[in-house]
Amino acid sequence: MEKKNNKYHNSFPLDPEARVKALKTILETKGLVEQEALDEILDTYQNKVGPINGAKLIAKAWIDSSFKNDLLEQTEKVLTELNLSGRQGEHVTVVENTSEIHNLVVCTLCSCYPWPLLGLPPSWYKSDAYRSRAVREPRKVLEEFNLLIPNSKKVRVWDSTSEMRYLVLPQQPEDSIGLSEDELVNWVTRDCMIGAGIPKRPGKFND
Ligand code: FE
Repeated sequence: MEKKNNKYHNSFPLDPEARVKALKTILETKGLVEQEALDEILDTYQNKVGPINGAKLIAKAWIDSSFKNDLLEQTEKVLTELNLSGRQGEHVTVVENTSEIHNLVVCTLCSCYPWPLLGLPPSWYKSDAYRSRAVREPRKVLEEFNLLIPNSKKVRVWDSTSEMRYLVLPQQPEDSIGLSEDELVNWVTRDCMIGAGIPKRPGKFND
C-alpha cells in the first residue's frame, strides 16, 4: 500500500547528486545561498585547510606532553586559542590510540567531520558501506585499509554527530622518536587521524 506522504518524497529525484542540485536550486531561488559563498567555503576547506592543521596538532602532542594533556582534556580551549574551531569544528573530542585501544571515527547518519582540522571528508568516509560497516564490523573494515588490529587490542568506534566530532591522536611510531615537530608533521596522514590508518614515514607509499 502506498504511504500517504509518498507523493512528496517522489517529487524529489532519487539520485543523491540530482537531489543536491534540486535543493541547491531551491535555496538559490529563495535567495538563501549564493554560489559565490558556496565556492568560497569549498575552496577554503578543500584547498586551504586540508589535514595539515590536524597533523600539526598531533606532531606537537607527540613531543610536548603538557600540550597533549591539554589537547585531550581541554580540547575546545586549545582549538579556540589556535583559531581552529570554525565551521563544523565547534565541538571536537580527541581520542587517543594506545597499546590497548584503537579508535575509529565514523558518522553513521551522514558525514560529520572536523573540517577545520582535516579539511573535507574523503569520499569513502561518506559512503553507505563505510558508514554502516564501521560500526558492525570495524576490524574487517580496518583490514581493508591494510590495518590489522591484534585481538589483544580493543577497537572503539566513535559516531560523529553535528554536536560532536572526533579526532584520533595516533600512537607515535617508534622509528620517529627523536625527530623534530616539523619532521613529525609529515608522518601524520589524514587517515590516521580518522583511525583508518597509522602514521607513516614520509615518502612511503600510502596504501
Ligand atoms: Fe554526519
